[in-house]
Amino acid sequence: MSYRQVLIVDDDPVFRALAEDLFLDAGCAEVAMAEDGLAALAKLDAGLAPDLLACDLNMPTHDGVSLIRALAERRFPGKVVVISGEPNPVIDSVAKLARMQGLNILGSIRKPLTDEALAEILSRGLATPKPSHEQKPATVSLLDAAIERGGLHPFFQAKVSMADGRISGAEALARIAVTSTDYANPIHYVELAERNNRIDDLTFVMTRIVALHAREFFVGGRPLPVSINISPVSLKRLDFPDIMASAVEGAGIPASQVTLEVTETRLFDYGPEALDIFARLRIKGFGLSVDDFGTGASNIDRLQMYPFTELKIDQTFTRNALIDPFARTSVEMSVRLAKDLGLKIVAEGVETRDMWDFLASLGVDEAQGYLMAKPMPPAEFLKLLERGVPQQQQSLRA
Ligand code: C2E
Ligand code: CA
Ligand code: CA
Repeated sequence: MSYRQVLIVDDDPVFRALAEDLFLDAGCAEVAMAEDGLAALAKLDAGLAPDLLACDLNMPTHDGVSLIRALAERRFPGKVVVISGEPNPVIDSVAKLARMQGLNILGSIRKPLTDEALAEILSRGLATPKPSHEQKPATVSLLDAAIERGGLHPFFQAKVSMADGRISGAEALARIAVTSTDYANPIHYVELAERNNRIDDLTFVMTRIVALHAREFFVGGRPLPVSINISPVSLKRLDFPDIMASAVEGAGIPASQVTLEVTETRLFDYGPEALDIFARLRIKGFGLSVDDFGTGASNIDRLQMYPFTELKIDQTFTRNALIDPFARTSVEMSVRLAKDLGLKIVAEGVETRDMWDFLASLGVDEAQGYLMAKPMPPAEFLKLLERGVPQQQQSLRA
């Protein structure tokens, strides 16, 4: 499998001609070109929808950095490769910027472009297909049905101990019923709920349902720790800890069985109430995890300031750690930081055996990812718990 359409953005016509040949030789079906960022955006506005965009950085009119910012703003869904003659640290920091802005960046190549470098970069993108439901628009009526009429269904994904390969926890991930047989991924619904003041309701309903399922989850006779995602938007209401505690305890599990993951993906300043809320959540027994670590702003300050118990390395870093020096360094630093602060460290997005080995060598506590188990409905997750270690996982144990 390769790319359907590539858009090459470069001001040098000689480079464009060379790159066109190389992309076609690498198996890309069709190549379009633009001579700078503005021309590229005009083509996208006119309906061009490349699944890969290759861009130069130094272009006279609208440079690659501006283009990347514009692509991030319009949530460009394709993959991006930076191909430039700038020194490596410059290219790497632009790639990092692009990743922080949520673009799906495959990596970067320093000119001259060769067929080997191109083949290597192109092979990176093919392992992670997008979930098929991801693009469906979220509607207020489906959101209401989820919150009020039973349309909210937690899936569970195993967290696996890197020391012994056993299941050591589960993350609950919301799924929204869109038809009687079809579930949508949550991200658009979470954003919609945040915009419409429904996020707390979504969280409370989700928490109650998760707690009811978690009553059945045991490993080696002990209750299995479960994680629930909460939105930073909820860190404003002072009764949040009380409602969360009554939601789990009402369903029959102690708060100490539950870790709340607060996502860091969007740049979001916690309000003055956050410290109060975090402290009281901890006093009630909840664990607190900083999710997607490395993507937001002032992560390190936050670790000092708030009583977190766990740090979760964002999957873009995990996924890129073996191919991108910046991602690798981020992962290594995150592990050191977590250990210094006495936090449990979890890596998500673990998809390959090489990735597992690398993280194990750093001393990461728990791993989560498709290599071990995908998110699955509760009944299936129960079976996984009964079987013990996930199948692929057997081979991971020394
Ligand atoms: P997240 O908390 O970072 O969750 C991890 C996401 O990565 C999940 O996507 C999971 O299905 C996916 N994933 C797990 N392992 C792998 C892997 O090995 N490779 C790849 N490519 N992906 C993997 P999902 O379920 O679509 O959830 C997306 C996001 O939606 C979550 O990201 C979380 O931020 C948010 N979310 C999910 N459920 C809830 C919820 O109940 N409340 C709130 N506030 N947010 C939620
Ligand atoms: Ca999470
Ligand atoms: Ca994450």
